[in-house]
Amino acid sequence: MATTQAEILMIGTELLLGQIEDTNATHIAQVLADNGINLYQKTTVGDNHERICDALREALSRSDVVLCSGGLGPTEDDITRECVAEVTDRPLEYHEDIFELIESMFTRYNLRMTENNKKQAMVPRDATMIENPNGTAPGLLVEDARGIVICMPGVPRELKAMLSDTVIPYLRDRFGLSEIIHYRVLKICGLGESHIDNTIGDLITDSKNPTVGVLANPLSVRIRIAAKAGDIAAANALIDPVDAEIRRRFPKLIMGVDEDTVEGVVNALLVEREWTLAVVETISGGMIGQRLTAVSASQFKGARILPIETLDLRNASKMARELAQQAQDEFSTSCALAVLSDPEAGATTAVFIHPDGHEEWTFGRPGRSEIMQARIATVSLEFIRRFLVGA
Ligand code: ATP
Ligand code: MG
Repeated sequence: MATTQAEILMIGTELLLGQIEDTNATHIAQVLADNGINLYQKTTVGDNHERICDALREALSRSDVVLCSGGLGPTEDDITRECVAEVTDRPLEYHEDIFELIESMFTRYNLRMTENNKKQAMVPRDATMIENPNGTAPGLLVEDARGIVICMPGVPRELKAMLSDTVIPYLRDRFGLSEIIHYRVLKICGLGESHIDNTIGDLITDSKNPTVGVLANPLSVRIRIAAKAGDIAAANALIDPVDAEIRRRFPKLIMGVDEDTVEGVVNALLVEREWTLAVVETISGGMIGQRLTAVSASQFKGARILPIETLDLRNASKMARELAQQAQDEFSTSCALAVLSDPEAGATTAVFIHPDGHEEWTFGRPGRSEIMQARIATVSLEFIRRFLVGA
C-alpha cells in the first residue's frame, strides 16, 4: 500500500507572528514519523477566514490527511470549524448533546459558560466530534472525498492527549498502518561529531532498517538508531545488533541511552562502589553541583564554589588535589572532584580523588558563558564516568 500522506495546518495569528513557539507542529511531526505516516507539508496561517479556507483546500488537494491545530475555542477569532464547514461544503449543525458535554466540563472546572460556548457545539454535518477530556473545545473529524480533516485544540496538553488517544489509533486503523518506528539514542560526550561520523559513517550510509543518524549539540553527540517494525519488541530486536556494533567501535565511550544524563550515570556507578562525592568548582559556578542535585544524585554530599582569582594556580594540579582533599574532609566523602578552570591560561585541571588513588585530566577552552560552564561540568563528569567504567 502507498504511504499515507499527511500535512499539518497550524492556525493562529500568534503563531504566524512568532509570538508563541510552535511546539504543536514539532510534536505532531514526530508522532507522525513514529507511526510511519509521511509528512508532506507544514503550513501556518493566521486567524483569517479566507486564508484558512485556501490553506485547507490546497492541503486537501495534495494529502490524505490534514491535521489542524488551534482555533476551536469559543472566541471571535476561533474560526476553524466555520472554515472546515465551508471547505467541505457541509452546513454547521447545532448538537445539544455536545453542548451538554461542554456544559458538564464547565461545571467540573467551576467555570461560567457564555453564549459564545454554544459555538463549540456547532459541528459540520456528518463530522465526528473528538472528545477532549482535558479542556472544553472538542476536536473534529471530517471524512471528505478529497481526504480527511482532523481539527485539534491549540492548547498543547489537550492536543497531545487527543492525538495519542484518538487521532493516531484512528489513522492507524483507517490506513491499515501495522508498523511503528522506534528509536534508541546512544549518547557520547567529549568526542567530536566528525570523529563519530568517520567511525560509523558506513552504518549511517548503508543502514536501511534500522537507520543510523547522528545529531550533535555542544555537549554531546547523539547517535539515533531508528527501526520500523510491528511492535516495540520487534524494533528492539532490530536495534540491538546495531547498538552492539556501535559500542564495539566506541569501547565504553557510550555515556548512556535515551534520557540518560552523565550526572545520573556517574551517580549510579558511584552507588555500585558505595562511594560518595564532594565537588569543588570554580568558573562553572555551581553547575556540577546543580546537575547532581537535579538528578537527586544520592552519592553527592556537597560542593564549594571558589572564585578562580583567589587561587594560586602556579601549580594547578597540586592546588586541585589539595582542594579536593579539603572538600573530602569537609563533606566526609570517599571521593572528591576539584575542577580549576583558568580562562587566562586557557586550561581546566580536574582532579578526582577516590579510595584507590587519584586521577587528573586537563582540557582546554574554559569560559564563563552558560554553555561553557555546562561544557566544563559535562566533560569533568564524563572523565569520572570513563574512569569508573575503565574506559
Ligand atoms: P481555546 O479553547 O483555548 O481557545 P483553541 O483550540 O482555540 O483553544 P487557540 O486559541 O488557537 O486554541 O490556542 C490556545 C492557546 O494554545 C494559545 O494561546 C497558545 O498558548 C497555545 N497554542 C496554540 N497553538 C499552539 C502551537 N501550535 N504550539 C504551541 N502552543 C500553541
Ligand atoms: Mg482560541
